[in-house]
Amino acid sequence: MSENSKPLNFIEQIVHKDLDTKAVEQLITRFPPEPNGYLHIGHAKAICLNFGLANTFKGQCNLRFDDTNPGKEEQEYVDAIKEDVSWLGYEWAGEVKYASDYFDTFYAWAQHLVREGKAYVCDLSAEESSAYRGWATKPGKPSPYRERSIDENLDLLEKMKQGEFDEGHCVLRAKIDMSSPNMQMRDPIMYRIRKQTHHQTGDKWCIYPSYDFAHGQEDALEGVSHSVCTLEFADHRPLYEWFLENLPVPNTPRQYEFARLELNYTITSKRKLKQLVDDGHVDAWDDPRMPTVSGMRRRGYSPASIRNFCELIGVTKSGSSIDVGMLEYAVRDDLNDNAPRAMCVLKPLKVSLTNVPLDMNETMIQAIHPNRPELGEREMRFTQSLYIDQADFTEEQGLSRKKFKRLVLGEWVRLRGGYIIKADECVKNEAGELIEILASIVPGTVGENPPEGIRPRGVIHWVSATDSFDCEVRLYDRLFNDESPDAGDKNYIDYLNPESLTVLKGCKAERSLESALPGVSYQFEREGYFCLDSKHSTDTHPVFNRAIGLKDNWKK
Ligand code: ATP
Ligand code: MG
Repeated sequence: MSENSKPLNFIEQIVHKDLDTKAVEQLITRFPPEPNGYLHIGHAKAICLNFGLANTFKGQCNLRFDDTNPGKEEQEYVDAIKEDVSWLGYEWAGEVKYASDYFDTFYAWAQHLVREGKAYVCDLSAEESSAYRGWATKPGKPSPYRERSIDENLDLLEKMKQGEFDEGHCVLRAKIDMSSPNMQMRDPIMYRIRKQTHHQTGDKWCIYPSYDFAHGQEDALEGVSHSVCTLEFADHRPLYEWFLENLPVPNTPRQYEFARLELNYTITSKRKLKQLVDDGHVDAWDDPRMPTVSGMRRRGYSPASIRNFCELIGVTKSGSSIDVGMLEYAVRDDLNDNAPRAMCVLKPLKVSLTNVPLDMNETMIQAIHPNRPELGEREMRFTQSLYIDQADFTEEQGLSRKKFKRLVLGEWVRLRGGYIIKADECVKNEAGELIEILASIVPGTVGENPPEGIRPRGVIHWVSATDSFDCEVRLYDRLFNDESPDAGDKNYIDYLNPESLTVLKGCKAERSLESALPGVSYQFEREGYFCLDSKHSTDTHPVFNRAIGLKDNWKK
């Protein structure tokens, strides 16, 4: 999936060298989500990186759930994550893996460290413990429980495992260095007591390993060669290595860090996204306004566009916020190349033709894609009454032809792929509102230039009033109206865009859209890219989501 001509990013360079020098025989990476929420665009970057490396270097990438924290984790998230990774177009190696697959080994390794005098059970409370830990410029103090005997530690650890202590009563800590300048090395926690049911292991365990006591060992057990994570784990690397050095692991993976993806106008924190869902600010995790993979899918973004975006932004060692316009650009670029075309009138205005028979019914052939004849053609009915969009008509006289390339009373316009028509008369209701236009066709103008003296202002979209179907269209705008809604101590809830969703009913769609399926975006000509909604659509009430508008604001 990666292009050979592109320069390698810094991680690809490392892998390339390791394979070249045979420091590593086979590349094995992993994507290690914690199943405590749905994946978002930031995760997509990590997925594209890890699975992309495996594809580029003919290695493999594991999907491994980092399920060491049962209180916040759920099977629903496990299922959603698997679906999202597959949808993005990636295949994990073998079975899905879980940190919990290795809990027995971790326990044996914890006993091993205790026997080596490198771990101890500590009864300090969380507050006491943090006071003992010191801070960056002040060394910590050893816990009074640090010198417990090996036998006592083994016994206490077993009792922790047997559930003899309450949550919080004690923890198992690695015995490293309370005065290390790296806070992570000041006797970090290895096991906590959690009397919670786990989605994979049920009630088998009441102690759970910390991230640090799990991650590197999982990598080692799976033969991971390059363990790629985000920058906030750089501090943890010495600890990652300490565990690998002090345990009888079968392999020695290496950790590399890259910058997290941050997007403006967007939140990329599962915790905050979960709050949006829990508090009802959005429909669900897959609300089309959410920056989740499932939200983007439902909205009509293609997997290729997300992969292209991740390729476009690259992989770096220092963080910076990316303009969300780049994501929108990637989506538009891909859909422009691939989306089938169709017509849908969002705000219908009726046009009745006065110079054709009432039962007029001509077939107009339209290309499915203007640049891709291999995709074939579609048919539209041209009938005596039609709909155009309200925005495509004005009674106002004297507008310049450059400014208004649509239909003006008394002038001509071409209906795309159909006839040129002239607007002759406006029909209004008692309130004086325009309800219908009476118009006439210029005969012989389908696919032909008009006769001398007839100058259509432009080309507009249309559908038959009698051979089209009703649908609902949902227009989305950015979920937040602030560039960095959660910067500093800002409360992102205050920056929710009240206009992030506009619902239009009674839109009129051409027949070819009856076979639209969720997940396939169409270009509604002159309007944007739209995709059938997977949740709200029914056979009698189709709902289309606008994935993105036609106009590219970012590149300019
Ligand atoms: P969150 O802060 O949203 O909860 P997380 O890092 O805790 O994210 P995990 O489930 O642990 O979520 O993430 C799985 C993988 O995805 C990790 O390797 C993590 O580094 C990576 N990842 C998460 N967020 C981003 C991001 N914004 N950009 C790049 N990679 C990310
Ligand atoms: Mg995490």
